[in-house]
Order: sequence, then structure tokens, then C-alpha cells
Amino acid sequence: MRVIESISEMRAVSRKARAEGNRVGFVPTMGYLHEGHLSLVRKARQMADVVVVSVFVNPIQFGPGEDLDAYPRDFERDRDLCRNERVDVCFFPCVEEMFGSDHNVYIEEARLTKVLCGATRPTHFRGVMTVVAKLFNVVEPDIAVFGRKDAQQARIIECMVKDLNFGVQVVTAPIVREPDGLAMSSRNRYLSEAERKQAVCLYNGLCLAERLYGEGEVRTGPIREGMRRLIDEEAPLSVIDYIEAVDYESLRPVERVDRETLIALAVRIGKTRLIDNTVIG
Ligand code: AMP
Repeated sequence: MRVIESISEMRAVSRKARAEGNRVGFVPTMGYLHEGHLSLVRKARQMADVVVVSVFVNPIQFGPGEDLDAYPRDFERDRDLCRNERVDVCFFPCVEEMFGSDHNVYIEEARLTKVLCGATRPTHFRGVMTVVAKLFNVVEPDIAVFGRKDAQQARIIECMVKDLNFGVQVVTAPIVREPDGLAMSSRNRYLSEAERKQAVCLYNGLCLAERLYGEGEVRTGPIREGMRRLIDEEAPLSVIDYIEAVDYESLRPVERVDRETLIALAVRIGKTRLIDNTVIG
């Protein structure tokens, strides 16, 4: 496995691989890798000949007062995990390499970025889109794999690729969970023991939504209300940011589950903001 820190070298290696007839699969990450990330790597491996993983904590997707400085980092561990998964290239640029001193161009999206997490994190998705577009221009992958853990992010990237005509196929992969159901996340390491126990309330809320729908409830109001009650009762350390039921494609709110419906929630457990989702209908 090669570790590459420079944009020009990354681009040259990727172009050479493609010129030799290989399909390049790409998994962008912010590092501190876990089984969720590794599942994306395995998917990329199934669909491509050469697998590139980027490890880059993207400063422009963090808002003021968010956890940029505290975000967990352990590159040696990430490198070893990538090597064990037979990753071909780990792209590990520094902030200066990616953003230099005079970066002024950002990608905006007018609709999907305004709802769900975008409502309380107004510059988050433009930071994500901008860095992903840059990474696509550097790696020039045939395929890029994103986790459905960040369902809104995956939808936004799909739209960016379509609207800006990027020549990359976006593939999504299912959420990987801890044994008790908590979605794996690099941010889970912020949780104290008591918080970690209560953090399973997001998953339990989603299971309740699935059960209610399975029993015939199609109104999203009572489903969301049931989730809210369960989380308030199970997790006194929690503060709910949102619980929404939206059309999976447009992310517009829906009153009834009469199509593929994304049930998505964001909950603060202590100081840690966690997100999770499921699709019903
Ligand atoms: P991050 O390092 O958090 O930016 O995540 C990098 C990629 O891994 C994104 O496409 C995430 O959606 C995906 N990812 C993170 N956690 C999980 C998980 N538990 N299951 C599946 N994919 C995940």
C-alpha cells in the first residue's frame, strides 16, 4: 500500500492505474477508521481494481464551536487498518495541501442542504461538497462509496455528481452497527460510559418506527411522536435536535409513508451530537 500526501502524486498514480485499464474505487473518510468505513472499502474492492482511501479531517465542514480540534485522529492505526484491507493507496494530504492559503471557491446546493442536519449546520454540506468535489478532481475515481449512515450527505453527493456532471458512479452502503445497535461513528469515542449506554436510544427509536409501521401505522406524526417519547424516557442525558420523516429522494417532509421514507434523527447525548436513520415504505 502506498501512502500519498501530495495532490500531484495522487493524480499521477490514479491516472496511470486507469490508463492501464483498471477501475479506480474511492472511499473518502475523515479517518479514525472503524468497521463502518471498512465495509465501504470492501464494497469498493468488490467493484474496482484499485482502491483509494482518503484520510482527511476537512476543516471547512465544521462550523464555529464544533469539534474540529477535538476530532479523533490516529493515522498510524488508520494506515494499518487500510493495509489489512488491501487498500492500494491511502491519500493523506495535509490541510495546506488541500486548501492552501487562499481558498475561496465553494459548492452550494439550494434545497437538500437546507433541511435535516443542514438546518442547524448551515455551512456543513457546502464544506462536504467542496472537499468531495476536490477529492474527485484529484483521485478521478470511477466509483466512490458513501455510507447510508450519512443518508443526507449521500443524497447531496449524488445530486452534486448529477448536476455538475462528474464522471463518477456514486455507490451507497448500509449502516454498520455496534452489537447493541448504536451506529458506528468516530464520534462515539467522545461518549462517557453513562452516555454510551443511553446512546442506543437513537437505534431503539428507529426500531420503534419500523415496528409501528409494520403494525400498520402510516402517519408519520404518531411515528415521530412515539420515537420522541421513547428517547425522552430512555435517555435523560439526551436533547433531540430533530426527528424527521422525509421522502428519500427529495428529503421533503412526508405526512404518510406511501413511498420510500427516510426516518432520520439527530440527538445530542451530553456534548456529542449523534445521527442515525432508517428507510421504511
Ligand atoms: P466520516 O469519516 O465520518 O466522514 O465517514 C466516511 C464515510 O464512512 C462516509 O461515507 C460515512 O457515511 C461512512 N460511514 C461512517 N460511519 C458508518 C457506519 N456506521 N456504517 C456505514 N458507513 C459509515
